Amino acid sequence: MKKPTGDLAMVKKLNTAIVLDAVLKHAPLSRANISELTGLNKATVSSLVQDLIDSQLVVEIGMGQSSGGRKPVMLLFRETAGYAVGIDLGVNYIRGALVDLRGNVVAEHQRALKHHDPGFAIEQLMECIQLLIGKAEPSPYGVVGIGVGVPGIVDDNGSVLFAPNLKWRNVELREELERRTGLPVTIDNEANAGAQGEQKYGSGRGVANQIYVSVGMGIGTGIILNKELYKGASGFSGELGHLSIEYNGKPCSCGNHGCWELYASEHALLEAAAPLGYGDLDTLLAAAEAGHEEVCRLIAATGDYLGAGIANIVNVFNPHVVIIGNRMSRAAAWLTPAIQAAVDRRTLSFHRKEMRILFAELGEQSAVRGAAYYAISRFFAAVKSGESKTSQFAT
Ligand SMILES: [Zn+2]
Repeated sequence: MKKPTGDLAMVKKLNTAIVLDAVLKHAPLSRANISELTGLNKATVSSLVQDLIDSQLVVEIGMGQSSGGRKPVMLLFRETAGYAVGIDLGVNYIRGALVDLRGNVVAEHQRALKHHDPGFAIEQLMECIQLLIGKAEPSPYGVVGIGVGVPGIVDDNGSVLFAPNLKWRNVELREELERRTGLPVTIDNEANAGAQGEQKYGSGRGVANQIYVSVGMGIGTGIILNKELYKGASGFSGELGHLSIEYNGKPCSCGNHGCWELYASEHALLEAAAPLGYGDLDTLLAAAEAGHEEVCRLIAATGDYLGAGIANIVNVFNPHVVIIGNRMSRAAAWLTPAIQAAVDRRTLSFHRKEMRILFAELGEQSAVRGAAYYAISRFFAAVKSGESKTSQFAT
């Protein structure tokens, strides 16, 4: 049979996308269910489902419920038809996850990042990626791609233009990783990745307007409006860690003074706790757990600053939820009362009415899961446009 051309090919792509989305959202379901859900006729659905079965993305399972007559065959999405790698490049760590095509974590790896030199960091990234790829079971599509979240500003070509806390400028990260792995790579700001992670798999599921605040050594924010990531004119939105909150404040690595992250980040907390002899978040949280009053007071003071910045965000965006994620989400128990009090004090009551402050349901995994989601969604986009092929990179 001749391949359909022109308009027909376009219609087929659209219909394939519709059928695949129906399976992804509603499986297990029958061909008849798909026809009802999508309005496509049964013959078209059968033909497209057969294509997806041949592509090994959909499988048939036992019989479903029937209202009488022959029981229908049910269809499932085959989530192990391929895998993706997500990476969260932090200021002092690299976290990686291997996920299946549904985004379920299959394997994880984490290591400390001791130097920020791009050459060294990329070697460390590659080791982490190779290790995770090695953990993928053999599958029809193998590892379909890699997503990376980085603590900085990323352009459309996946170059890191500026990452103040890594001291990176103009690092062509996507090009380098694609060249070395032979896989499609997506790079985004880690707060955008974290926002996507929480939106797809965490506390932001089903929430239309969500602001994700990533509080680690710095602060970044990922803005989701009407369920879509808001990236701004050039993809640079969300640098709210550099919101000015002290008019004559401390100098920041970005060139400004008095930036929010200098007062409300993990780095700010550790700086304040250094005179007490604490050098890292783990020992600090253990002291808080043990009821050390001075430590609890310091965490609450950081929470007060966090709340001040969140109040500004709430007044601007009027979101349904603000989700606090990344490493400082571990201090939720001691941060929450101070954050809530500051937000109550500093926002307009109209904005507060429907707004909730939550902590990341995925804990420290928001960014790594969101980064992996980028790779998965890019794969699905290729499937829907008929460009994917099996086994190209099969492991
Ligand atoms: Zn700054």
